[in-house]
Amino acid sequence: MASYETLGKWLDTLVNIDILGRGIIDKLYTGAYEKIGEPLIYRAAREIKEAVGKNDAVLIMTGFRTPPLYVQETDGPLGAASLARTIDICLGGKPILITEPVDASLRILKAAVRGVGLSVMPIEEICKESYKHSASIVGFPIDEEKAKEDAKRLLDELNPRAVIAIEKAGRNSKNVYHNQSGLDISKYHAKVEHIITEAQKRDILTIGIGDGGNEVGMGVIEDVVRKHVPYGDVCQCPCKGGIAATSKVDVLVTAAISNWGGYALSGMLARMCNKPEGLHTQENEDLMFTLVISEGAIDGDKGIVERSADNVELGIHKSVLALIRQILFHRPHPVIRGEIISV
Ligand SMILES: [Zn+2]
Repeated sequence: MASYETLGKWLDTLVNIDILGRGIIDKLYTGAYEKIGEPLIYRAAREIKEAVGKNDAVLIMTGFRTPPLYVQETDGPLGAASLARTIDICLGGKPILITEPVDASLRILKAAVRGVGLSVMPIEEICKESYKHSASIVGFPIDEEKAKEDAKRLLDELNPRAVIAIEKAGRNSKNVYHNQSGLDISKYHAKVEHIITEAQKRDILTIGIGDGGNEVGMGVIEDVVRKHVPYGDVCQCPCKGGIAATSKVDVLVTAAISNWGGYALSGMLARMCNKPEGLHTQENEDLMFTLVISEGAIDGDKGIVERSADNVELGIHKSVLALIRQILFHRPHPVIRGEIISV
């Protein structure tokens, strides 16, 4: 039987295939692998499993709003929701999802969480031991000073054991946030780096998942992003600092589409915990896409409300999910073990 490390290597390979032909993911993956020193998915899953126990809070941050309308894209929320399900089912942890503090983004994230099979509960409720199979959604400040205060308060109150950023807009060396075209999107995005900084002060595990170089966590390979990603070194906005994000995390996971990094990490955790039902199903994938677009989420590449992410149609996302399950469990169909909850 393949070792977890070997399974991690296969998953890394699968989710880092350059399906979009952007010519950068291979560079980002190689750079991250050189820094981490073992398969990225394996390392991230192992560290999460070691860090997170029953009833421990885990913060999962996502959010990229696409110009010109600044609507939340479909890449990010689905991967975040997938991780929330796995953390609940496999580890008994409490997923708290964090995004931009605007109604549209909050609604899209709630839709993804429900699509993956969890209930959305207020933060004060989810921390009660009896609330299984639920997650909370929290809007985090765009304002710098408020963000700094909120980061401390959140970590004081929740004492999370891990902070995961997936497809989360990250800032460059001049504190400016950029989209992939190198435009300044700072005033539309939460200043979540304060959460990373606070987590690191408290020795809390930090994980970053990204596909383009401008996401939280990419500071681990900032030199690679500057060298290989368009606008990585010099952006199109007046800051001229490039889109390369500077925040560093303990484990950086790259993927051709960030959601896939989330799915692979969820699958690896499910495998390590011997709970195949922890990884969401193709039906969940279908439902998540349907629900998030019903709340207005757009394909960030196409700018259109449809069941695709990064210009890749739903069927391919379902196929990648099926391949992840097949690689890890050698079974094409999910085994769902129904569980009666009495409270
Ligand atoms: Zn700039």
